[in-house]
Amino acid sequence: MAPKQPPKPWLIQVFWVLALGFLVFSLVGQTGGGAAETISYTRFRQLLADGQVLKVVVSGEQIRGDFKDKQPDGSTGFIAQRVPPDLAEMLAARGVEVSAAPSSSGFGTLLGWVLPPLLFVGIWLGASRLMGGKGGGMLGGGLLSVGRSKARLSAETDVKVSFDDVAGVDEAKEELHEIVDFLRTPEDFGRLGAHIPRGILLVGPPGTGKTLLARAVAGEAGVAFFNTNGAEFVEMFVGVGAARVRDLFEQARAKSPCIIFIDELDALGRARGATAGGGQDEKEQTLNQLLAEMDGFDRSAAIVILAATNRPEILDPALLRAGRFDRQVLVDRPEKKGRVQILKVHLKTIKLAADIDCDAIAAMTPGFTGADLANLANEAAVHATRRKADATAMLDFAAAVERIVAGLEKRSRVLIPRERRIVAYHEMGHALVARAIPGADPVQKVSIIPRGIAALGYTMQRPAEDRFLMGADELRTRMAVLMGGRAAETLIGPDVSTGAADDLARATDIARGMVARFGMGGALGPVAWDTETGHFLGEQGAFWHKRVYSEATAREIDDAVRRLLGEALARAIAILRTNRAALDAGAEDLLAHEMLTGDELPVPVPEGSDDA
Ligand code: ADP
Ligand code: MG
Ligand code: ZN
Repeated sequence: MAPKQPPKPWLIQVFWVLALGFLVFSLVGQTGGGAAETISYTRFRQLLADGQVLKVVVSGEQIRGDFKDKQPDGSTGFIAQRVPPDLAEMLAARGVEVSAAPSSSGFGTLLGWVLPPLLFVGIWLGASRLMGGKGGGMLGGGLLSVGRSKARLSAETDVKVSFDDVAGVDEAKEELHEIVDFLRTPEDFGRLGAHIPRGILLVGPPGTGKTLLARAVAGEAGVAFFNTNGAEFVEMFVGVGAARVRDLFEQARAKSPCIIFIDELDALGRARGATAGGGQDEKEQTLNQLLAEMDGFDRSAAIVILAATNRPEILDPALLRAGRFDRQVLVDRPEKKGRVQILKVHLKTIKLAADIDCDAIAAMTPGFTGADLANLANEAAVHATRRKADATAMLDFAAAVERIVAGLEKRSRVLIPRERRIVAYHEMGHALVARAIPGADPVQKVSIIPRGIAALGYTMQRPAEDRFLMGADELRTRMAVLMGGRAAETLIGPDVSTGAADDLARATDIARGMVARFGMGGALGPVAWDTETGHFLGEQGAFWHKRVYSEATAREIDDAVRRLLGEALARAIAILRTNRAALDAGAEDLLAHEMLTGDELPVPVPEGSDDA
């Protein structure tokens, strides 16, 4: 990316507008003066009582009036600010002198004059910049270069990233090797007439390394890399996006062999007719242009288009047809082995203590993406720096994991005591239910230190290993644990709180999955009622979720979901009722210490044992 130039013409404009506004303001300020004296409200009431006031004009909070007779000091009128009557009454009874000040200060008025033109200039600048102007040439360059591609700015010719920098995604790398070979020696492939995919879609959640991988392909092949984003092609004016696509491909042809990378392809490639509201024609034209460019590829041009998305299901099916993005490469969250490899990449630049064990860190971080792990390495180093250590140790990683998992620790957020009590019971509820059910994931830690934005407390359960398959029983256990918070609140009464909203949402997800996707819904049979809508469903199926079952089935599904959730809550309540003493003691402990780990937690009676 080229560095942005400082927008100097900007400042000059702003200066002129300010100066103009000031001039106007001072002119206005001068008119409207007169022989009116500003007096207090109390004085106004006295004058009124004395029969000195001839007439008044009340505008808003201001009272302007004329005296019956000219006052000794020569004034013929007065201005007073009104005070709310009941307040004035109360103050008058105590003999307090009352006056009020106008609510819009001089500065406020000034702002009123200056702000609108400023806003206007701001919008103008914003618009001209969006239209693809380079930083410096603000008005001319911006508005006039409407159709030119922003991609021009980011054509990298000397990409330093290699496959070694991308770890834990061996399958994806394998698939992309072929592309690298093709880009290195395009002639060879043409000779035998081999068909090389021109469009490859990298599919996976954010942070898994899609962009990195695309860049690595360019780096490995030593070709130019056009880095674009689908959103850059979405424009206000019909035809602008399309022109930009055309321009991009023109530039690419000039630089062949090269790679065009389109990040967030879904922004541009949403199924046609699926978006609500305006902008339809523009998007369609842009998409059509992209399709046309991909079809019209000259066989000899060594250009490969890589695109990334985390929502392939909403893409226009036409994009996925043969000759376009007909190959998809899955870039998923890494499993443990992958996480170890990724960690090794990101730990290279960090000074490490002897106790660092990548395997152990990987074990602590199921579900982390590559980006999360990169962040983790950095956070750990920051933590070590802060405690003035010589090297980053395991304890720094443990702290960083916690930080990332549960959001930033914010001791500054204070709960009122009643809320703290509810949160303590809520979290202890989760913990006790989890500990009472044999086979549930072990509870590592319960805390009522507020973290991040949403969580007031949290219970950290860590699965012993990565899970790919889960039994129906395990799912039921999870739901019961999720219900533990609400169950505890129910038991202590008198009311339940909003604190369980997230738990309920997650439990509902599980229940819905059991019934409608995994065929665990009893009477509903082994049917996948909710199928993941795929592109194969045809033109419209990709965006609207099509219901493929009857009204009656829908009701049955809802009932089954409700039943599962009801059972889970009842189970949690039963467990907590049996362990009421432990719940109370645990909550008290938590209130006192804010945080309890592993063996500090109360031990509940195991579910289903005879002592219950
Ligand atoms: P995506 O494009 O899938 O959202 P990025 O490629 O932008 O993800 O990844 C963001 C950062 O996370 C990268 O710059 C890199 O530091 C780190 N990262 C992600 N995946 C990996 C990986 N597989 N190996 C090494 N680092 C990774
Ligand atoms: Mg990305
Ligand atoms: Zn909860």
